Amino acid sequence: MLFDSHAHVAFGAKDIRFRPEYTLETLIDEMDRFHIAKSVVMINPLFKLFKCPKDNKHKITVQDSENSGVLKLYCLQCQKVLYEGPDPMREFNLELMDAISGYSDRFFPMLTVTLANSTIPGEVEFYEKNYPKLFTGYKLHPRICFRGLDEISFFPSNRPVLIHTGVDYPPTPTNVAFAKKYKGNILLAHAGRFDPDLIFLAKNFPNVYIDTAPSSLMFKGHITDLLPPFNTLIESPADIYKYLIQEIGEDKILFGSDVPWGNYEDEISILHSANLPQDVYEKIAYRNLISALKFG
Ligand SMILES: [Zn+2]
Ligand SMILES: [Zn+2]
Repeated sequence: MLFDSHAHVAFGAKDIRFRPEYTLETLIDEMDRFHIAKSVVMINPLFKLFKCPKDNKHKITVQDSENSGVLKLYCLQCQKVLYEGPDPMREFNLELMDAISGYSDRFFPMLTVTLANSTIPGEVEFYEKNYPKLFTGYKLHPRICFRGLDEISFFPSNRPVLIHTGVDYPPTPTNVAFAKKYKGNILLAHAGRFDPDLIFLAKNFPNVYIDTAPSSLMFKGHITDLLPPFNTLIESPADIYKYLIQEIGEDKILFGSDVPWGNYEDEISILHSANLPQDVYEKIAYRNLISALKFG
């Protein structure tokens, strides 16, 4: 049996910059074709709203508003507020929960929450009050928000949170600071980029897990997309599993695809190429995810 701990589907296609055609229907077809029993599913977060219309290299950061329920998207180069209003992710999270309602046995939805102190408490309260049974946890994306998690004063939940990790952003200490305070389980995406400090967290903090999504792309870009010393030690895609198991142990690692960035054919073939003993395979393929998603 195989569960995917990290998959994205597009809602609001015209507003999305990458793979807007990869919808829930596409994901379900692929899960069937590749025998994925269940997936953690999130919205595709690459909204054009988070890019500056003047120049898409400009950095847009999320800022708090003095009004609760309102956040700002601010271009650091133009020094201008580009958006001021409610969390733009809410309508797409609602579409996600609605779309999967006929398939509740196949998905663990993670709701994407924009990183503003002026909106987070209201967003979490809104979802908890109205849809407590329709979602599993939250996705936090410091890179898209261009804001470290250490700036979030309080995340009022004990549900699992899936956190993006990167080599350029977010800075590791910001993720570490959040992980040390958070009471629920934490799923670090993208093998934590093999960052030694994130590896340490996953090894030593009982509530921290780490996913392998997408091992195909992490291997292709291993020199620049992963951190030393593992970026040069990794010589084959299967080494991603080998070194994670060696460093963290087999109980905290989660198979993930990051579709539509990764693809099932490659991610599954890499998992198999690691030639894991059956009990280790089962933990990484689905048992660890079941533990990681527990809360309450
Ligand atoms: Zn700008
Ligand atoms: Zn992702």
